[in-house]
Amino acid sequence: MALLFSTTAFKSNGNPVKSVGNLAESARNSALFAAQQVQTDTLKTDAKDPVCGMKVKKGATLTHTHDKTTYGFCSKSCKKSFVSNPDKYLKK
Ligand SMILES: [Zn+2]
Repeated sequence: MALLFSTTAFKSNGNPVKSVGNLAESARNSALFAAQQVQTDTLKTDAKDPVCGMKVKKGATLTHTHDKTTYGFCSKSCKKSFVSNPDKYLKK
């Protein structure tokens, strides 16, 4: 039993670089996902979708906070466009 255990332990350490690499990658993806989730807030006031210009009503949950401002979106695709390149839509 002791021998089996130590063999298993050795095997799990057999490829540390690959394991750590995958872990770091998945941790980064979860962190990215978590960050987007955390920034989702309910819209406090009526606003305008910065991507397409449609009005977004207070209470909308398709939002994204950028530079301490919460923007509302009419659809997930508008939000996605904004999140991937906010400066493009904030230029005046
Ligand atoms: Zn839109």
